[in-house]
Amino acid sequence: MCDDRAVTSPTDPIAPSTTPRTIHADRAGGTLAVEWADGHATTFDLVALRWLCPCAYCRGEAGLPGWLDSDPTLTPEQTRLVDMQLVGNYAVAPTWGDGHATGFYTFGLLRHHCPCEACSRTRSASHDG
Ligand SMILES: [Zn+2]
Ligand SMILES: [Zn+2]
Repeated sequence: MCDDRAVTSPTDPIAPSTTPRTIHADRAGGTLAVEWADGHATTFDLVALRWLCPCAYCRGEAGLPGWLDSDPTLTPEQTRLVDMQLVGNYAVAPTWGDGHATGFYTFGLLRHHCPCEACSRTRSASHDG
């Protein structure tokens, strides 16, 4: 297992804004960097990425609150990236230090939550409050 890993996904002409050209998990730096086919670059803090975990356990299901809804204090193990798998060509599935690996982060989700200034501004502009 090498420390850093770059995953190159097959080129998908359908939606460049949600098609990653490269996905690079920097475990030492604590970031996940995605470069999109439309030229945009997204860098997630791994702690923020853990908070975005879309799995049923974290997010809840059938109207029930999930674990992250209880506003837990995340331990360093829970935000330590151990591994990152590409799921088909639509998502990535990180494995965290506490063994949690059920979250499939679709590329659309990653792009939607892009924390860069331009995207944050676009998001807050489309919300009223
Ligand atoms: Zn989860
Ligand atoms: Zn952005």
